[in-house]
Amino acid sequence: MEEERSAEGRLEPALTLFLAGAECPFTCVFCDLWRHTGEEPTAEGSLPAQVEWALREVQKKGQIPPDLFPRRSRLKLYNASNFFDPRAVPLADEEALIDLVRPFHRVVVECHPAFVGERCLRFAARLDGRLEVAMGLECAHPEVLPRLNKKMTLADFDAAAARLREVGIALRAFVLVAPPFLPAPEAVEWAVRSAEHAFDQGAQTVVLIPTRGGNGEMERLLAGGLFTPPTLDQVEEALDRALPVATAIGGTVTVDTWDLDTFARCSACVHPRRQRLERINLSGQAEPRVTCSECDGR
Ligand code: SF4
Ligand SMILES: [Zn+2]
Repeated sequence: MEEERSAEGRLEPALTLFLAGAECPFTCVFCDLWRHTGEEPTAEGSLPAQVEWALREVQKKGQIPPDLFPRRSRLKLYNASNFFDPRAVPLADEEALIDLVRPFHRVVVECHPAFVGERCLRFAARLDGRLEVAMGLECAHPEVLPRLNKKMTLADFDAAAARLREVGIALRAFVLVAPPFLPAPEAVEWAVRSAEHAFDQGAQTVVLIPTRGGNGEMERLLAGGLFTPPTLDQVEEALDRALPVATAIGGTVTVDTWDLDTFARCSACVHPRRQRLERINLSGQAEPRVTCSECDGR
């Protein structure tokens, strides 16, 4: 349970449910989401049972003030795969899922552009609230994107974004800061250019994701000099430079601060620097960089 800033600048309660189901059929080099998935298709009935249980638990624990829940909250159903892949979300469960999420004014699901088709449009049309689809753009660099093994071209992303736009489904885009195969000095530039591309395609929200290792393949690329994790300084600069781009179109850009400390080189300032990013995520307002006598903020 966290707060998220809406495109209108309001802070809203946002509940994320991490659902367990079938593995994603794509094998992007940077992804480690398969660790939380199974090899078999998701069993029918499993997802509605998970959502029902989770919503009950959240209400039982009083994590959301009753007057805010769920009508004024957004719900993110993240299944570490593609929501509109029938292997991941059985068609037979759709009815039950729609009933469960109906009260939320916005429902966010994640999906590869290849699965953004008729089923997605039908699902959106049956919700009371608005559907938002989160798609990984990752990196708009014409030579880097094909090497990420996402089996997606920029044109595929744009076509899916256009399908969403035509029917009023919102788009959230994930952009990697310092993906593999991109020279380290270009990390910030391409994060900002990728965010610009996503906004141009109608995204209202862009989430910058510092690229992490940890799945084995990334360690191999690191050892081979093909991957350089971002520095905290680059992550900050990417957000600082993407912020005015988002503001200009009335959208939002945030940075994923999970595990952020691993990118820091100075223990003296990592905490205030993380806090600054978290404040910007909520306010959307630029702030001066943290200064540090130990490392000069670098
Ligand atoms: S499409 Fe998404 S979930 Fe699937 S491998 Fe790529 S990043 Fe991971
Ligand atoms: Zn420092």
